[in-house]
Amino acid sequence: MTEAIKTDVLIIGAVPIGLFAVFDLGLLDMKAHLIDILDKVGGQCAELYPEKPIYDIPAIPVISGQGLTDALMGQIKPFGANFHLGEMVETIERIGDPLFRAKTDTGKVFESKIIVIAAGGGSFQPKRPPIPGIEAYEGTSVFYAVRQMEAFRGKRLLIVGGGDSALDWTLNLAPLAGRLTLLHRRDQFRAAPDSVNKMMALVKEGKIDLALGQVTGLQGEGGRLAAAVVKGTDGSVSSIACDALLPFFGLTMKLGPVANWGIELKDGELIPVDTSTFETSIPGVFAIGDINTYPGKLKLILCGFHEAALMAQKAHRYVFPDKRLVFQYTTSSTSLQKKLGVA
Ligand SMILES: Cc1cc2nc3c(=O)[nH]c(=O)nc-3n(C[C@H](O)[C@H](O)[C@H](O)COP(=O)(O)OP(=O)(O)OC[C@H]3O[C@@H](n4cnc5c(N)ncnc54)[C@H](O)[C@@H]3O)c2cc1C
Repeated sequence: MTEAIKTDVLIIGAVPIGLFAVFDLGLLDMKAHLIDILDKVGGQCAELYPEKPIYDIPAIPVISGQGLTDALMGQIKPFGANFHLGEMVETIERIGDPLFRAKTDTGKVFESKIIVIAAGGGSFQPKRPPIPGIEAYEGTSVFYAVRQMEAFRGKRLLIVGGGDSALDWTLNLAPLAGRLTLLHRRDQFRAAPDSVNKMMALVKEGKIDLALGQVTGLQGEGGRLAAAVVKGTDGSVSSIACDALLPFFGLTMKLGPVANWGIELKDGELIPVDTSTFETSIPGVFAIGDINTYPGKLKLILCGFHEAALMAQKAHRYVFPDKRLVFQYTTSSTSLQKKLGVA
């Protein structure tokens, strides 16, 4: 079995609320690893509204979703958290009192004394294009994310989509692909103009192909793709030979594996918590942010920060059962200031 990464706390969701949890836990000497399906930190803030102004973060009259994420990353620097991005936690099991083992879809194994679920509205998952039989090729020839660019070296790649992900991966994979075709349903792209210009330049130089249309079928055997059937915008039907298909059709939020972890759920999608600790029905497993529910719950970042602070107090009891916790202010405690690197 893969050697387990051992940590005090495993935070599922590298989101603003999870980042602030790193701060609260760090002040109490607990170390954290964070995992997120997205390939960047910030959750909804960074994925859904990175440039939108947020007006209700205390003492910050206005900040963008990305700005808030960046500021929190700066604030938690002293605590050296470890990030595992582009990975989904598939299972968690209790193996001690409390001690948990979590496994991700890339095969990483974590052992942590406590688990903090900051999984928000659930896992961001790629939208599957409506191509008959596509499931049979997923994971072998159809990929919704690029985990290792090297895996695509020398292959004939068909990238589908017109947004930033499709264009970014076109530009990144073009130098190592055997041949790369970008397929989009129209000649207007939603991606950053600079990426579109760079892609067009590659097409002009004959380094990649651009096709307009939609994939209507796949040809291959035993999960190995040979070609994609494409209906062009002019109605013509052709086939594009390819070893791998990479559709980038955006993301959708689904509860995902959280539902299978044996935690009590309300209405099948929210995790009830004790509001003095934000602990779930499983001792040692906490839920903060949009994923939890309690009387009066508001799905606000502000509320998630409060939940993280109270969670850390109870977490300390599990991680350091023999240590007494003394309440301290950052303004006046030299010990806290040392941890923050300011004293
Ligand atoms: C358009 C919009 C505007 C908003 N404006 C405001 C505002 O002005 N003020 C405000 O306070 N709030 C606002 N909100 C709400 C705010 O964004 C949420 O309350 C907050 O982002 C919730 O954060 P979260 O930590 O609960 O999780 P989320 O941001 O939902 O993130 C959850 C993360 O967990 C990851 N995840 C889930 N399951 C797994 C798994 N099994 N393994 C690995 N990773 C997993 C997901 O990929 C995701 O990145 C807004 C929301 C939206 C959509």
